[in-house]
This record gives sequence, C-alpha cells and structure tokens, in this order.
Amino acid sequence: MSTEKLAIEGGTPVRTVPLPSVSNKSGRDVGKEEIENLTEVINSGSLFRYGGKFVSKFEEEFPEMLGVKHGISSTSGTAAIHIAVASINPNPGDEIITSPITDMGTLIGILFQNAIPVFADLDPETYTLLPESVEARITSKTKAIIPVHLFGQMCDMDPILEIARKHGLKVIEDCCQAYLAEYKGHLAGTMGDIGCFSLQQSKHMTAGDGGITITNDDDLANRARLFMDKGWPREPGARDYMFLGINYRMNELSGAVACAQMEKVKGIVERRRKVAEGITRLIADTPGVNPPVVRNGCKHSWWLYPITIDEKVLGITPQEFCKALTAEGVPAGVGYIGKPIYMSPVFQERKTYGTSGCPFTCPHANPREYREEDCPNTLEILRKIITLGCNELFTEQDIQDVGDAINKVARYYAGRKS
Ligand SMILES: *Cc1c(COP(=O)(O)O)cnc(C)c1O
Repeated sequence: MSTEKLAIEGGTPVRTVPLPSVSNKSGRDVGKEEIENLTEVINSGSLFRYGGKFVSKFEEEFPEMLGVKHGISSTSGTAAIHIAVASINPNPGDEIITSPITDMGTLIGILFQNAIPVFADLDPETYTLLPESVEARITSKTKAIIPVHLFGQMCDMDPILEIARKHGLKVIEDCCQAYLAEYKGHLAGTMGDIGCFSLQQSKHMTAGDGGITITNDDDLANRARLFMDKGWPREPGARDYMFLGINYRMNELSGAVACAQMEKVKGIVERRRKVAEGITRLIADTPGVNPPVVRNGCKHSWWLYPITIDEKVLGITPQEFCKALTAEGVPAGVGYIGKPIYMSPVFQERKTYGTSGCPFTCPHANPREYREEDCPNTLEILRKIITLGCNELFTEQDIQDVGDAINKVARYYAGRKS
C-alpha cells in the first residue's frame, strides 16, 4: 500500500461516495418517530410549550436519564449556557474562566450578563482545561468555571471541582459536544452545579436547534426557569416579572423532535464509540499518525474524531496531510477553529454594545487584554489538530475506508521521507 499513488497526485481515491454526514439523512437517525410526535402536535393545534406535552416531557425525562433533578429547555446550546450563567447571577465585571477552543455559544451568555470571560490553557493531549492554568487565572472577581468537554471528552473534573470548592466557585459544564460522555463513572453534566446541552443539527441528538440546562439545585433551577421565560412565574393573578429575563422558550415542534431523539441518544453514542474504536484500531500502527487520547477511566462520546501527525516522520504539514486525506474521499480539517476564540473581533476590538466596549470597559471589571500568547498550548493544538467526521451511521466499510485512507497517505509520506 505504501507505494500506491495518492489521489492528490492523480491516483485513484480510496472512496468516491461521500461518507455519512450529520448535515443530512445520510448521517442522522431522524424519521418515523419524529414524524409521529410532530403529527400529534399539529393535530392538537397547540404548538406552544405551555399547554403542550412534549417540551415538559423532555424537561422531565432528559435530566432523569442522567440522574439529575431539573431540566430547563431552551432554543439553543447558546441559550442553555446563557440561562446557566444568568441563574448564578453574576455581578457586572465578575469573571468566568473557560476554554479558548470552543463555540462562541460558550461566551455569548457570559458577555450578555456583563461578566468577563477569562481563558485558561489546555492540556495538549485531550484539548480540555488544564486545572493548574484554571487555578492560576482565579482573582477576587472569579465567579464560575465553564469546563468545555471538547469533541466528546470530559475535562479533568476532579481537580477542577476541587479548585472550585476551594475558591467558592460555581461549575457550569458545557456538554454541547459530550452527550453521555463519562468521567470515572460520572456522566457529563452531572458533576458540576449545572450542565448545558445543544440540540443543533450537528450534535449527538438534534431538533435542528434547541438546548437544555440541567441542575440538582432547586434555587438555580427556579432562577433558570424564570430567566428562560421573561422572569415571569406564570402564577395565577396579575402578571409580574421577578427580574430581567429573556424569551428562550422551546416550542412543541422542537420538543416533539427532541423527545424522539432522546430515545435514540444512548444507541447513537454507543454506535459512535464502535466507529471511533474501529478507526483507532486501524491506525494504531500507522507511522506518523497519533490517534485520539482518551483519558484513563473515561468514556469519550465522539462528536468529532481528532488526530495529530508527527510532522518529522511524515515530512509534511497538517494542512498538507488534510489535503491529501480529503482527496482520498475522507474530508479532514486543521484546527477546528482557526485561532483561540479570544482572538475574534468580539474580544480584540470589543465589538459588543455600541461603541462602549462594555462589559470589558465596565468600571466594575478588572482591566484585561486578550493576548495571543496567553494560552501557548492552545496555539500549538490549533496548529496541529486534524478533525475527521464521526457519526452513528458509519458502516464497517466506511470505517475501513477511513482507516485505509489515513494509512495510504501516512505510509506514502513516511516512505518517501525515509
Ligand atoms: C454547539 C456548541 C455550543 C452552542 O450551541 P448552539 O446550539 O449552536 O447555540 C456551545 N458550546 C459548544 C462546545 C458547542 O459545541
């Protein structure tokens, strides 16, 4: 195989049929069950969550599946995190420590509550928060930590929770990519004070868009529910609004789909584990390729499948490797996001509220610059990391093709080098 001509140099690609994609039916288990629930909603004529049954059912059964008391649904993962941040009620200028490799949805709720995101550096092998870096970023203004369980692997939660306890901080888990991931037997979203999930199209379960915030804390749940619905308790009598809230209500159409997907998510995660383990087995001895590292005692849930290459062994850059792999019919990208999220205009140019620069310029906030070099491991991770798609509808053949393509490209370059 090592001498086979690469597709990028005019050879025959390993495959020409696209791999199953989460963007459409080829990689998504969406069908009969969702249609049945949706039909019931339409036939009832009641599309609003209050008066309907599916959103309430989702809010009861989703947390129950994880062994948590309360669930507050919403319109997105961004909303779910915003709700979580609002429920801990930070003061303007309070700081929340999180990961520089994430979706902007992790940060939007922090900024909309006029709190300040602070970024800790990451572990170079698992791409999750480095506990010692988190601790080093704590100031008198720190209110909470948001560990992001990136690509489906949980952060190192024991030391993070220990640091939070020591400093009196709340922990909000961003589980948008980590449904049913486990850390030493604990499910994602059940270890911190609050867990947040997204139902956007690409996540393990989807309603197109949607979110849910879970917690065991009655007071946080109460604030979360009020915040999600304009601060309105919906009690009998005249309307009243208890504090500044928002409208993030999920509707029954989304709830109907969310309920059907919830029944499938365990199977989806199990199948993704088989797919990822299959690929890992096929590339275990591939020269110059490092399969994903799964932390001891933990279970990954594989939102994406991340690898790195040894540039010295292959004599090429991660970009060149991705180009060659993509040409073989296995799409791959470098970096996931191109730069640490704090390098975006939101942080660098303070593109927030009018020309005020709030909340960064808030008199309650400590002055802070976001400098590229703040998180050196993160820069190296983003330069090196290669992500491949991974979903529950990959067949044995698909797994084999991914393994064959990686082997073909790696062996070609390793052979040419030596
Ligand atoms: C998807 C995602 C979000 C935001 O979810 P949306 O539903 O797109 O708003 C937040 N954090 C992470 C880690 C995500 O992957």
